[in-house]
Amino acid sequence: MSQQTSLSRKRDYSVPPVDGDFYRISNLLNESETAIVKRVRDFMELEVAPIIDDYWARDKFPFEIIPKFATLGIGGIGYTGYGSAGGSMLLNGFIAMELARVDSSIATFWGVHTGLAGGSIYLCGDEEQKQRWLPPMMRFEKIGSFGLTEPLVGSATSGGMTTTCRREGDSWVVNGEKKWIGNATFSDINVIWAREETSNQVKGFVVGKDNRGFSVKKIENKMALRVVQNGLITLKDCRVPERDRLQNANSFKDTAKVLRMTRAGVAWFAVGCAMGAYEHALRYATQRIQFGKPIAGFQLVQDLLVRMLGNVTATQCVMLRLGQLQSEGLMTDEHASLAKAFCTVKCRETVGYARELLGGNGILLDNHIGRYVADAEAIYSYEGTREMNTLIVGKAITGLSAFV
Ligand SMILES: Cc1cc2nc3c(=O)[nH]c(=O)nc-3n(C[C@H](O)[C@H](O)[C@H](O)COP(=O)(O)OP(=O)(O)OC[C@H]3O[C@@H](n4cnc5c(N)ncnc54)[C@H](O)[C@@H]3O)c2cc1C
Repeated sequence: MSQQTSLSRKRDYSVPPVDGDFYRISNLLNESETAIVKRVRDFMELEVAPIIDDYWARDKFPFEIIPKFATLGIGGIGYTGYGSAGGSMLLNGFIAMELARVDSSIATFWGVHTGLAGGSIYLCGDEEQKQRWLPPMMRFEKIGSFGLTEPLVGSATSGGMTTTCRREGDSWVVNGEKKWIGNATFSDINVIWAREETSNQVKGFVVGKDNRGFSVKKIENKMALRVVQNGLITLKDCRVPERDRLQNANSFKDTAKVLRMTRAGVAWFAVGCAMGAYEHALRYATQRIQFGKPIAGFQLVQDLLVRMLGNVTATQCVMLRLGQLQSEGLMTDEHASLAKAFCTVKCRETVGYARELLGGNGILLDNHIGRYVADAEAIYSYEGTREMNTLIVGKAITGLSAFV
């Protein structure tokens, strides 16, 4: 029997709805929050799902979706004022999950723009800077990037950052390189972190794409998050006016405040990525016929599905509680780190099970799962690797730092 015939064979049993929210965590949202989440889900399913595998294969970003994306009202959820959407950090998490459920690259585009770049300005800018930059960012008219990682320093940026800045009159001179910077090939507002030559403290700057001494080269040949346009930024005697230095970023501790917030967002991406993979796998299992019946009816296939659902449900519950802590202002670095490490490990496991369930078809991009498997690798490592987050939690629970 051909694959087409076997997939389209008429079913003689009723298939329950495919739903990765097994414990009904979405019941905890109020009416207006539910409406936003639904708006995001509809957009992702109708506008993004049909085109994204093609963009992923071509390593391109679908710029045409940005105007509609902007109308979803998801710029700056959890922030107050400056044109932000408002709402709770828990809602922000649900949005992150919904985006990644369909595509982790689009989720990352949003996370870098509104979370890392917008969040740096929101947490570290003064009033005038927030008024100047945030409203156009919240409308997605100006897109942001966040430049922390360097070619020679990734995990160790807190102590080892090599990009430097020095004050000369009313401006600063910034020199260095930033690697892996999401959105950087087209972003207007680039947050750049640099160490001051005299004080050795880390400062934050907003650098425009047309600023002299600022250039970006696209990073090619990625095997994950291929829709995200990552850049290698070079800053060569790049002059930045004092008014564009983030006035409330005085040391790496301020950078860390931004990372704490966004790390939780990435953990939500991992949950969404796993949830999407589970739902694709379940749908496939009910349609794929082998030995005369849907493979969903085989014990070992059900075992894979239930393992996946267990991971999805467990990580959803972790994130639910983390979102509550975040909304109450009680979330610590170690809380966020445990969630990021645990959820990304479980995501990686889940997308692997989904790939296994699809057999050979699991490696075909047309069946989507290949994209989830690849993208989970990047989510696993960016915004703090599992090892870094483990060391943060390890220090908190033992009182002993195992960082070298
Ligand atoms: C797709 C993608 C998008 C990204 N977007 C951005 C962005 O927008 N902006 C930005 O600034 N950065 C971005 N990054 C960078 C990302 O945050 C880093 O890749 C990450 O922090 C890890 O740094 P590294 O890749 O240099 O790995 P390294 O730091 O070189 O680590 C390599 C390995 O060594 C381990 N390791 C390192 N030190 C220790 C230690 N002390 N103990 C135990 N293990 C250790 C790590 O856990 C890892 O397994 C992005 C990365 C990717 C892949």
